[in-house]
Amino acid sequence: MASSHTVLMRLVASAYSIAQKAGTIVRHVIAEGDLGIVEKTSATDLQTKADRLVQMSICSSLARKFPKLTIIGEEDLPPEEVDQELIEDGQWEEILKQPCPSQYSAIKEEDLVVWVDPLDGTKEYTEGLLDNVTVLIGIAYEGKAIAGIINQPYYNYQNNEKQKLREHRNEAKAGPDAVLGRTIWGVLGLGAFGFQLKEVPAGKHIITTTRSHSNKLVTDCVTAMNPDDVLRVGGAGNKIIQLIEGKASAYVFASPGCKKWDTCAPEVILHAVGGKLTDIHGNALQYNKEVKHMNSAGVLATLRNYDYYASRVPESVKNALVP
Ligand code: AMP
Ligand code: MG
Ligand code: MG
Repeated sequence: MASSHTVLMRLVASAYSIAQKAGTIVRHVIAEGDLGIVEKTSATDLQTKADRLVQMSICSSLARKFPKLTIIGEEDLPPEEVDQELIEDGQWEEILKQPCPSQYSAIKEEDLVVWVDPLDGTKEYTEGLLDNVTVLIGIAYEGKAIAGIINQPYYNYQNNEKQKLREHRNEAKAGPDAVLGRTIWGVLGLGAFGFQLKEVPAGKHIITTTRSHSNKLVTDCVTAMNPDDVLRVGGAGNKIIQLIEGKASAYVFASPGCKKWDTCAPEVILHAVGGKLTDIHGNALQYNKEVKHMNSAGVLATLRNYDYYASRVPESVKNALVP
């Protein structure tokens, strides 16, 4: 059926609903208690039942509505019939009320590449650090990340725990219980929504980096930045959320390991609010369908003061990381 909305805005509106469904699947797998953990390349490179089910859900739901899209998902899954229960057909109407940036209004379905990380922060998911987990759907056009959706299935998880503690101590504030989970979305030229933009206090250098995939290069690079504080948390999506909510000033990962599906959606959200994400040399990342999946030269991302951090990456670290 013909629609007055552009392909890009219809895709973002559908991806929003699909990401919300993904969040419910992630919570459901935990509630059932059987994570079905599989080691991929190593003990810190894992896949769970949630990674598998969510990838099937996202890729099949998108392909059904937008059959000409190129969809690249993280997980290697055998082709199989997808359970109808995993299909999400909805679209978030609020997004369809927004104008499509004019430079994207003529984009056709076949021009778009969608990068899907069904569950980012899997290692932390298996360890119960549930608020580190995100579902990432990134949309690229002409090699550039232009739209992104991040679902955080356990947003408010810690708050709920703290709330329970306050209630226990009779310190509970009035108001309803916080809702579990949220979806953040953004389009370049339109903005990013679903969170409150906040900056780290001026002059403070708080670095967020990997918790499960560290090595000497990673720590050398972080140390060279002379940070006031270092946060070690899981997930690329989670670390970008820390940047836009004023918890960290730079995401520094001087190592290969992170892939295009980890950075595509988070990069859009950061860029839509004036931040910058590059490799450790300062090169923009490319997202065309032929590109190598691995971000071999690491990740450097900030909301503000990108140059401060870029200028402190040691030459030895740069020499060790070939794009
Ligand atoms: P982290 O900051 O460790 O959570 O990493 C961010 C994303 O990159 C996650 O999806 C990780 O699985 C992925 N990643 C980073 N380093 C590695 C690695 N050495 N092996 C596999 N995946 C990695
Ligand atoms: Mg990931
Ligand atoms: Mg993943």
